[in-house]
Amino acid sequence: MKFASRLVSFDPAPGDRFRPISTPIYQTATFEQENADSFGDYDYSRSGNPTRTVLETHLAGLENGTRGFAFASGMAAISTVTKLLRSGDEILADNDLYGGTCRLFSKVLDRAGITARYADARNLEHFRKQITPNTRLIYAETPTNPLLRIVDLRKLAELAHEHGALLCVDNSTMSPYLQNPLDLGADIVLHSATKFLGGHHDVTAGVIVVKDAELADKIYFVQNAEGNSLAPFDCYLLLRGIKTLKLRLDCQQRNASTIAQFLLGRKGISQVYYPGLVNDRGYELQRSQARGAGAVLSFTTGSFEMSKAIAEQARLFRITVSFGSVNSSISLPGTMSHASVPPEVLAQRDLPEDLVRISVGIEDEEDLIDDLDRAIQEALVPIPDAAPKTRISVFGNSATDESQLE
Ligand code: PLP
Repeated sequence: MKFASRLVSFDPAPGDRFRPISTPIYQTATFEQENADSFGDYDYSRSGNPTRTVLETHLAGLENGTRGFAFASGMAAISTVTKLLRSGDEILADNDLYGGTCRLFSKVLDRAGITARYADARNLEHFRKQITPNTRLIYAETPTNPLLRIVDLRKLAELAHEHGALLCVDNSTMSPYLQNPLDLGADIVLHSATKFLGGHHDVTAGVIVVKDAELADKIYFVQNAEGNSLAPFDCYLLLRGIKTLKLRLDCQQRNASTIAQFLLGRKGISQVYYPGLVNDRGYELQRSQARGAGAVLSFTTGSFEMSKAIAEQARLFRITVSFGSVNSSISLPGTMSHASVPPEVLAQRDLPEDLVRISVGIEDEEDLIDDLDRAIQEALVPIPDAAPKTRISVFGNSATDESQLE
């Protein structure tokens, strides 16, 4: 079956005698047992719930894995993967990562004696040199957030396996429609399902899919032990969103490609980062491992003030963290989604302060271009007294970490 058919062709309610066509929300915390010394298929929703099972089975199929797991957020999924490690183990991660992932790796895991190192995974020789006998996990996003860099997943998988480490790939910017890291050699694929999988910014969720049965058992053990799985209603929302993944992403990607072309020659724009542009450094590699360039892109303008003005002048592109929704959004990663990158990690990575990230939605392409064109035009009008730089501190995603674990 082709992907579009697979998205909607699954058993929505295994064993349900009423044969519903949409998956019921089994809003129950516990299940009655027939007797006191044996369990039925389900006993307690932290351990398993029929709505979640449908979602997890569906996700495993879409990512060409054998078992899927749904979590309360993308961060809960990432945190679960790190529970496969022990004190003394090291993570080697690509250095262009979502800010919250860096915060977890560098500011939480250090308390468990786990060290994270970061290096540019596009430069494989240099990356290889950062591997130590303690490296147990290699971690990357591709395209990366927010610079849309492309990392060679086949080579990274070889490197990880040569050194007895696991490769975990955050596939949030692509979704299983455009890329399947397990087919390229990764051991674990994960998603912030809050992004393209959900697609409507109405659910916060995370996903892990693996092929290996032993690895799956370990992940299930952590999911059940920690109790960070996705609630039934959110599983339902995610199942509903996934059905239109291809329709949405085809349109979003088309719009993104048009916008990237438009921005390329536009006065006021210095650089455009989008792996669908033929002169992008990652273009050929992206074509070799994915089926499209996606709907997220970034650009720089030469000044923070100009970038801020564009974000604030845009109307259809609303200023929001996150990406992947049917609505277009605009953000300044430096003050928003990546404000949580610890300063010492930030010092080692390239995060232009004037970087603007946009996530392109399903609006009419002409309206989107008109909106950006006007926003850039208005931002180009000299600002008499450039406003002082603001650090937007939004609770959660972009919390600037003034408060930390002691
Ligand atoms: N991975 C990437 C690439 C992200 O951008 C994000 C959040 O923005 C996450 C993971 C974390 O996901 P969540 O916000 O669902 O916890």
